[in-house]
Amino acid sequence: MKVTLLGTGGPRPDPARMATTTLVEAGGEPLLFDAGRGVMVQLVRAGIPLASLARVFVTHHHFDHIGDLFDVMLNTWMAGRTAPLTIWGPPGTRQIVDALTTQVYDRDIAWRTLAEPSSGGWAPVEVNDIVAGPVLSTERLTVTAEIVRHGDGLGLPEAFLRRWTCLGYRVEADGKTVAISGDTVDCPGLERLAAGADMLVIPCFLARSEIRGDDARRLATHIIACADTVGRVAARAGVKTLVLTHHRPRPDDTLLTEIEADVARVFTGRIVMGRDLLTLEV
Ligand SMILES: [Zn+2]
Repeated sequence: MKVTLLGTGGPRPDPARMATTTLVEAGGEPLLFDAGRGVMVQLVRAGIPLASLARVFVTHHHFDHIGDLFDVMLNTWMAGRTAPLTIWGPPGTRQIVDALTTQVYDRDIAWRTLAEPSSGGWAPVEVNDIVAGPVLSTERLTVTAEIVRHGDGLGLPEAFLRRWTCLGYRVEADGKTVAISGDTVDCPGLERLAAGADMLVIPCFLARSEIRGDDARRLATHIIACADTVGRVAARAGVKTLVLTHHRPRPDDTLLTEIEADVARVFTGRIVMGRDLLTLEV
């Protein structure tokens, strides 16, 4: 398997990083995890033929993870995709895709279908709203999903939390395992995703020294994994390579170096500090 970090940033615009999106090439095909800002440009830079993209896995509905989903649907089509594009994601993904194709971009899709008939007409998008469990199984690979915790402990209203499911994914192919945690804190779902993984791609948002004050502690405890957590999770799960992603704009690398040192205090495996377009063999 091969993992390419297409985006390693977050919601805030960062000239150095697109939003968190990861490509896994497994069983001879490209699998896209999330579709954040810049995904299509990064796929071109990574040399992936756009029309070959047929499977997208959405972790959750924050805009830094789905902001360019329309671009994936439309540009794979414009690049010659004729087969359906299949998208898996938490409950509500179908509603989002339907809104994009039948409301936001319905005129564009109709225009291109009518004005550029050589494109062969709209190539459909199929959506599967999923929760934990088996997602995809082919002769060469399997993908499973787990529910992870990203904001659940904040005391948000039950009515909202019923509409807020966050997923991580585990890809197994060629005897290897890659886990994509999605945005999460330490939780049983993350533990199952990471168990014995050859590679875990996980956010590591703050250095230990940045976890000061109520807001930062609340964030590190309930919203997104930070340098106080990630190494411990990986060590407990027996992960071989830990890839740290979802970074915020920073003026220089000082705190990234600190994050790496924080994680290395408890995790003795290989640590990779994520940067855009880094490709890793698994
Ligand atoms: Zn998020």
